[in-house]
Amino acid sequence: QRLPADPETKNFRRQVLGACYSYVTPRTATSPTLLAYSTEMAQELGLSYEDCQSGLFTNVFVGNQKLRGMQPHAQCYGGHQFGNWAGQLGDGRAINLGEIIGESGQRWSIQLKGSGETPYSRSADGLAVLRSSVREFLCSEAMYHLGVPTTRALSLITTGDEVIRDMFYDGRPQSEPGAVVCRVAPSFLRLGSYEIFSAQSDIKTLKTLVDYTIESFFPHLGAPGKQTYLDWFQEVCERTADMVVDWMRVGFVHGVFNTDNTSVLGLTIDYGPYGWIDDYDPNWTPNTTDATGKRYRFGAQPQIAQWNLLQMANAIYPLIEDAEALRNILNDYVTLYTDKWQQMRADKLGLAAFNAADEELHQELNRIMQLTETDMTLFYRHLADVRIEDKDKTDDEILSPIMVAFYSPDALTQADKEDIAQWLRTYLGRVEEDGISDDKRQSKMNAINPKYVLRNYLSQLAIDKAEQGDPSLINELLDVMRHPYDEQPQYEQYAAKRPDWARNKPGCSMLSCSS
Ligand code: AMP
Ligand code: MG
Ligand code: MG
Repeated sequence: QRLPADPETKNFRRQVLGACYSYVTPRTATSPTLLAYSTEMAQELGLSYEDCQSGLFTNVFVGNQKLRGMQPHAQCYGGHQFGNWAGQLGDGRAINLGEIIGESGQRWSIQLKGSGETPYSRSADGLAVLRSSVREFLCSEAMYHLGVPTTRALSLITTGDEVIRDMFYDGRPQSEPGAVVCRVAPSFLRLGSYEIFSAQSDIKTLKTLVDYTIESFFPHLGAPGKQTYLDWFQEVCERTADMVVDWMRVGFVHGVFNTDNTSVLGLTIDYGPYGWIDDYDPNWTPNTTDATGKRYRFGAQPQIAQWNLLQMANAIYPLIEDAEALRNILNDYVTLYTDKWQQMRADKLGLAAFNAADEELHQELNRIMQLTETDMTLFYRHLADVRIEDKDKTDDEILSPIMVAFYSPDALTQADKEDIAQWLRTYLGRVEEDGISDDKRQSKMNAINPKYVLRNYLSQLAIDKAEQGDPSLINELLDVMRHPYDEQPQYEQYAAKRPDWARNKPGCSMLSCSS
């Protein structure tokens, strides 16, 4: 390792200076049980079916046993939370086992989440409960299959130990089953990994880490130097924009989009109080601690990304000392994001490109989707079923393919119906201009507008069952989410909109951080 390590090797909590990571020993789990694993990830790591069924697999990926070459360590990073510098934050409950080269040639870092305290655990226990681990495990793999850049998950293992948490059901501390997720990514470096050294005026370590990052993960940018650092920042901006565009495409809300949760590789990282948009509402946030500020709401994600990137610019400034150049890249981010998002909006509608004249069409779409509770996923999916010939039909007829997307169709007023039907006619007119056939448009749209997303209530159902000792729904949802764009008649029920009982149920709509 070329990065500086913490000379102290014990797990006790402390401020770590001048080091990018600390060696730690994962906690021993009393009776680990494997609940689920990703066959795709296992294959990539060269693990056979038999390997995954073995006791060794469970013991290694819960942290009870080390394989040759593994050197468990926790990374040092800080971050801005809720808009404020929060100092040293992590890895408070993540432990890297090491890195290996996968079957595809990709280098993978293997990390356990929830396997005990580290020097960075602050006042918390370093553990994770089953419910949050199910959510992280499932969503990582769901996002991967949806084509969204993300960290991956190899396995979900219960520890057999209880974890104490303040539950939001009745406010009393409760004990819950503990679990460990094995996460996998080329790197878990975040914007906060650089901020911490800048905040400590430790420019030497900052430079070492930046050079290591570029050599390891951005080698095409060339040798380290001021221009390379700028090119690197530009590329991080681009990757972040691509990631957020994908979030907006599939209706994903991160929930704690802080700099410590913003990957330098443009991967979705840290599945905590995330949520999926059911009814389309740009102001919705799944994070209960953000109910008033709405910093983490769906529609704010592009701006928060830019704010986070501004913090990165500040952090790497000492290596570049050219504020103007950094500011230009940040300002260009707005154009960069807007261009990407406009193209994505066109793609979602099956249009070849976003023309300047389309702005009104998109604005009106944004309005009509909020006239009544409208399921975002079902709306786009069924918009693909509307056909050009429907243009000349009655309001009710033209609306019929998309009626399934409305949560309370009876609540639609006559005026709402007219507005929506009118929008559909304008849309179909625009489609006609493009000269694309209905069938071709449908298959284009269905390739990027998923039929299946990991709806909040589905994860909660899987959690409820798993807490009763039955992990079958976790595995079934993992299977459903393998083909989110395909028709899967055997899984039709998982494409349905959120049932009414799940509307305000904890876990199905709102979540708190760090469970
Ligand atoms: P988050 O908002 O989930 O990104 O959490 C911020 C930081 O708090 C993480 O980077 C962790 O290092 C730390 N953290 C969260 N939960 C725990 C926990 N149960 N034990 C120790 N550290 C934690
Ligand atoms: Mg985090
Ligand atoms: Mg977290």
